[in-house]
Amino acid sequence: QADVALFMAKSRGKENFEFFSTELLDGSIRKQEIAAALQQALLHGEFSVHYQPQVELSSGRIIGFEALLRWNSALGAVSPSEFIPIAEECGAIHSIGEWVLREACLQLKSWREQGRPDIRVSVNVSAKQFRDPEFAQKVERILVETKVPPKFVEIEITESLMLDIGAAAELLQELKAIGVNLAIDDFGTGYSSLNAVKNIQVDTLKIDKSLVDEVLGSDRSMAILTTIIELGRNLGAEVVVEGLETIDQVALMRQYEVIGQGYYFSRPLPADKATRVWDKYLEQPNGMFRAPILY
Ligand code: C2E
Ligand code: MG
Ligand code: MG
Ligand code: MG
Repeated sequence: QADVALFMAKSRGKENFEFFSTELLDGSIRKQEIAAALQQALLHGEFSVHYQPQVELSSGRIIGFEALLRWNSALGAVSPSEFIPIAEECGAIHSIGEWVLREACLQLKSWREQGRPDIRVSVNVSAKQFRDPEFAQKVERILVETKVPPKFVEIEITESLMLDIGAAAELLQELKAIGVNLAIDDFGTGYSSLNAVKNIQVDTLKIDKSLVDEVLGSDRSMAILTTIIELGRNLGAEVVVEGLETIDQVALMRQYEVIGQGYYFSRPLPADKATRVWDKYLEQPNGMFRAPILY
């Protein structure tokens, strides 16, 4: 019996060991490498911001760009979906987030100086940044420093952040007072979609790609999508539909008064390329939908 117990303990131990070594440990070595590299990344100038246009579907007009962080590190290109959570965990998100916002505001300033005044830039902000009680002041300082009018800057937060609404409410009020726009990102993917918009005056609902992907061919998904669009309208919020990739999706969404964003129009691009895509749009008559430049 003792032998059996020892055998089981050993095999359990071995299993555990294997589990940790092949799954978690590999993961954590990569994580540690990323966390270490992140500490240096700003200093080494490894970050850049790409811009993806947002298109008013009824007119084909570009009304804004979402700023998306890119990291070309010693480890190669690492996607934000991988490094942002690690940056949140190790605390680097605060300085990185500030850098992205400043960079996006500087780009907006430069576009405005080039005579492109009516454009908005949206910046993603993580829940961790919201834990910083001075976050709103930091935002305000960057706006003053870059001389960008607050109403042309949009802060994107995910609805899961709104779960923590008690903590976030005050900060959201402060941001509203500064005059920046608030967007709820990935709307419709969490558990708290309705709660998220109940107490806070949001300017924009961004409907997640996963919802959009299901609508062609699913009446039920379509019913949900159109209901969210109506919800946005009833709340006085603008609706952005994310992840439009095909002409069929664009044609379908064009029937609703929404803003579209997705690879169909353009991938996120470095500022100079995004500006060229934009110029091509401007040369086209109304209703021109697709960036004719290949990238
Ligand atoms: P998100 O804010 O929901 O951004 C949209 C993501 O969808 C981006 O991925 C974008 O490149 C991608 N996308 C846009 N159109 C399409 C499409 O038509 N098809 C497909 N398949 N994808 C499309 P990306 O740039 O890899 O960013 C992933 C996420 O990382 C973002 O999701 C956002 O949550 C986060 N992120 C990116 N930049 C920042 C940042 O500066 N700060 C923070 N806190 N998070 C960021
Ligand atoms: Mg976003
Ligand atoms: Mg999103
Ligand atoms: Mg997201």
